Amino acid sequence: MEEPVWTPAAKQTETPDAECLTDAKWSAIVNSDAGQDGRFYYSVSTTRIFCRPSCRSRTPKRENVRVFGSAAAAVAAGYRPCKRCKPDGLRMPDEEWVNAIAESIRAHYPERITLQSLAEEQHVSLFHLQRTFKRIRGATPAEYLIGVRIEAAKGLLRESRYTVAEVGARVGISNAAHFATVFLKTVGRSPSQYRQELATPSNRKAGEDNHD
Ligand SMILES: [Zn+2]
Repeated sequence: MEEPVWTPAAKQTETPDAECLTDAKWSAIVNSDAGQDGRFYYSVSTTRIFCRPSCRSRTPKRENVRVFGSAAAAVAAGYRPCKRCKPDGLRMPDEEWVNAIAESIRAHYPERITLQSLAEEQHVSLFHLQRTFKRIRGATPAEYLIGVRIEAAKGLLRESRYTVAEVGARVGISNAAHFATVFLKTVGRSPSQYRQELATPSNRKAGEDNHD
């Protein structure tokens, strides 16, 4: 039988269907109590994922947890079904899933991001994360992260007065030598060469207006 496919809620309705996170429900979540499956679902605001009580994912922080009476209510509130416990058999299409991970990488690239933490956050194995991401995007999550960081670095080199080391730190590569190496490998020029080229008259047509 075909598994139902998750589709994002057209309009997010946060409050109406959320239920109270009682101590009993919290205890069911902490103990991955399968006896509570189907009785309620819980979401985690930091990951935007929702699970069955029995899910063996890492225990979230209680203040980030919200409880729903049905999977549909969690979906309506904008949460995505967990890849591991598949609440109500809801299957998240890989493409949507990979897009969400890419979005999370773009939102957090200046921070320390490890693939292990990404996989844990998504409740999947590292292997599954790597393979699925690469299949959809043609690049591994690590390659994608580097691309996002280097694009951001190019922007800062063009538009700011930060030193090269500061630029590296601001895009999440705090080791200056490592940043220079990665930049050179990706762009084909060093960060300072890149900046210098932009500053030379042949590239920047200063004072030249295009009104004929
Ligand atoms: Zn789960």
